[in-house]
Amino acid sequence: MITLTTPIEKLDIELPRVGKKTAQALADSIALLNACPSREQAKVEHLLFYLPMRYEDRSNLAKIGDLADGMEAAVAVEIKVAGNYKVGKANQHKIFEFSGEDGTGRIRAFWWNQPFLEKTFTRGSHVILFGQWKYDTYRNSLTIENPDYEIIDKETDPTQEAIHMGRCVPVYRKLGDIRTKQLRTIMHNLLELLDFSTLSENLPPQLLARNNFINRADALKQIHFPPEYVALETYNRAQSPAHRRLIFEEFFWLLLALAVKRTERHQEPKGTSIEVNDQVRQAVLNILPFKPTNAQKRVLKEIVEDLTSNRPMNRLLQGDVGAGKTIVAAQAIVVAIENGYQTALMVPTEILAEQHTRNLRKLFAKTNYRVELLTGSLTAREKRAIKADIKANSIQLVVGTHAIIQDDVEFHKLGLVVIDEQHRFGVMQRAELIRRGYRPDVLVMTATPIPRSLAMTVYGDLDVSIIDELPPGRTPIETRVRGESSRPKIYQFIAEEVRQGRQIYIVYPLVEESEKMDLAAATKMAEILQKDVFPHFSIALLHGRMKPQEKEEVMRKFLACEAQILVSTTVIEVGVDVPNASVMMIEHSDRFGFSQLHQLRGRVGRGAAKSYCILMTGGVKSKEASERLRVLEQTTDGFKISEKDLELRGPGEILGTRQSGEQIFRVANIVRDRVLLDLARQESEFLLAVASDDPFTKKLIEKVLTQPKFGLASIG
Ligand code: ADP
Ligand code: MG
Repeated sequence: MITLTTPIEKLDIELPRVGKKTAQALADSIALLNACPSREQAKVEHLLFYLPMRYEDRSNLAKIGDLADGMEAAVAVEIKVAGNYKVGKANQHKIFEFSGEDGTGRIRAFWWNQPFLEKTFTRGSHVILFGQWKYDTYRNSLTIENPDYEIIDKETDPTQEAIHMGRCVPVYRKLGDIRTKQLRTIMHNLLELLDFSTLSENLPPQLLARNNFINRADALKQIHFPPEYVALETYNRAQSPAHRRLIFEEFFWLLLALAVKRTERHQEPKGTSIEVNDQVRQAVLNILPFKPTNAQKRVLKEIVEDLTSNRPMNRLLQGDVGAGKTIVAAQAIVVAIENGYQTALMVPTEILAEQHTRNLRKLFAKTNYRVELLTGSLTAREKRAIKADIKANSIQLVVGTHAIIQDDVEFHKLGLVVIDEQHRFGVMQRAELIRRGYRPDVLVMTATPIPRSLAMTVYGDLDVSIIDELPPGRTPIETRVRGESSRPKIYQFIAEEVRQGRQIYIVYPLVEESEKMDLAAATKMAEILQKDVFPHFSIALLHGRMKPQEKEEVMRKFLACEAQILVSTTVIEVGVDVPNASVMMIEHSDRFGFSQLHQLRGRVGRGAAKSYCILMTGGVKSKEASERLRVLEQTTDGFKISEKDLELRGPGEILGTRQSGEQIFRVANIVRDRVLLDLARQESEFLLAVASDDPFTKKLIEKVLTQPKFGLASIG
C-alpha cells in the first residue's frame, strides 16, 4: 500500500516498471528540490508535488496537413531520414536533422549542437514533436527548431499506451535523468496505487461549497491527469479546478497560521507601560525641525497607539527612500524616553549608524538625552565604558549595528527597539531580544518596499504602516541609462552642476570578484577624476575598509560641502542623507539589482533642486538587466519597482531564501495568483472571526500551530 508518507526510495517494491536504481535516483532528485536532508526523507507527497510544467492535448494530435506557419502544436511522425551535418564559417556548428511523415505531409525537425541525438531518433521510429512550426520557404517545408519531443515505441501493453496517447497528458521538466515520459508513467501508476483514505479533506465543507472548490484527492489526481471535461487551456494557465483548489489551500494554511500567530502575539504580556500626556506631547513637538507630512502624522499615530496599548508592538514601517521615516522613529523614541525607558536603534552599516547618531544628537540637542554609538569598531575600552553606562541607565538611546543586542550588552530598562533598513532580520532580532528576557516594543523600518502580497504572506504577523507621501518640494529624479560614449558629456554636466553649488555621488559596484579589486577600481577612479577630469574640484573617496573615524571625516567633509564629488563603493547604499547632492552616477549599473539601484538613486532628490541619476552601462547586458534599467528609467515609485522585481526574480530571491533552498510555495505563485491570495486571506480571517469555536476549526488551528511546515501529509 502506498501512502503520502511512503519513502520514494522504497517505491520499487510497489510500482511496476520502477527498479531500485530508478527509485533511488528519484528520491535523490526530489530530496534536492525540497532541500530534504536525505533521500530517506523524500516522501511520495513530495513527488506528487512535482507538477507538470505544461499540458498537451493528445486526444486530437494535429496532422501535418493542417499545420500553418507560426502554429504551436503537437504532431506525431515517423522518422524517414536522419543525420548530422556541419554549418558556419569554419564548420563550427553541428546540426542534427531528420525528416518525418504522418501520411498527410512531411516535416523537418532540427537541433543545434546535439549530434548525440542521432542515437535517439532512428529511422522508422515514431516520435511526438511539440513547439512552434515555421514555414521554411527556402526548403519549401514546415520546420521546427529544438522542439520538445517524446519517442513513442509501439507499446505491447495497451494500458501503457493509454497513459501517453489519446488524452490530455502532463509534460514534466526532466528530473535528474528521468524524462517526461517515464515520469508520466510513474505518476500515473502512483496515483492508481495511492491509498487515498490517507488523504482526507482538510478544508471546512462550507468553505469548499462557498467557493466551488473540488476535494483534495480529485485535485491531486487531476493536476497530473486533466479530465476530459475541463478545457486544457485553464490547465496551462494554472486556473483549472485542480490548480485553484491546491493554490488556495496553500495560501490558506499559511495565512491562517500567521493570523493565529498574530492573535497570540497580541495576547503576549506587555513589557512596557507607556503613556502620552501633555508633557510627552510637548517633548515630541519640541524636536520637530519641520512640519510633518500627513502620512508621517498618520503613522506616528499608529505607532503611539501600539506603544500605549497593552499589546507589544511589532510593526513594520514601510516608506519609500526619502519619505522621512527617521523623524517618525525619532518621535517614537522621544515617547519611550519621556516614559523613562531606554531605546535602541539598530542599522546594517556603520556609516548609517554614524549618520543617525549625528542627526539624532542634533534633533535632541535641546533635550538632556544621551545618545551613544556602539559599533564593532570601537576599541575594547570604549565599548566597555559605553556598556557600563547602558547598564547604569545613563544612556537613553544606543545607536549601532547588530552589536547592540549581542550577548554582553545589558540594558537597565529597554522599552523600544527601532530596526532600520533590515526588514529581513527584524523578525529574528525580535525573537533574539525576547530570548534574552527583554520585551520591548519593536519598530522595523524599510525602504525596500515589499509588495503588499509578499508582505502579507511573509510578515503576516507584523502590523504594517505605510508612509505613502514624500515631503513637499521634491522634484522627481530624472533617470537616464547611458553608455561609454556619453562619458565626456556627462562629465561636462557634472561640472556644470558643481558650479551651481550641487554635489555629486559616483558609485562603483563590486566589479571584480574580490573586495580588494573593487576598492582598487574606486580608488584609481577617484585619482583620475581628481587629476585629469576635475582638477578644480575636491574629490573625496569612501569605502568600507576605512576606519570609522576616517569614514566619519569623509562624510563630514561631504556634508559640509568641502568635497563636491564623492567617489564611493556601495557602502553609501542605504540611508545616507546629504540633501545638497543632485547627481548620482552609477558605474556598471547593469550589475546591480533593483533594490540596490533604487536605494542608491534615493541618495539624491532629497533637497529642493532637481536631481539626476545616471546609470552607466558598458558592453553587453543581459535581457533582465536591460529590463531592470528600463523600468528604473520610467518610474521612481518603489512599490512599482518591487512588484516588477518580484515578477522578474520571484519571492525567493527577494527574501534571500532561495540560497537556503527553502521554497515558500509549491503550487502557488503570489504574482500570478493574487486573486486566490486575497480570497485565502478573507477566508482565513472569516474562519477565525466566525468559527474559531467550532470543533473542526479548533482542530485545524491546533494542527497549524504544531506543524511548522504546512505539508499535505502533515495537515488533514
Ligand atoms: P528615509 O525615509 O529614506 O529614511 P529620511 O528620514 O532620511 O528618509 O528623510 C529624508 C529627508 O527628508 C531628510 O533630509 C529629512 O530631514 C527630510 N524630511 C523628512 N520629513 C520631512 C518633512 N515633513 N518636511 C521636510 N523635510 C522632511
Ligand atoms: Mg532612512
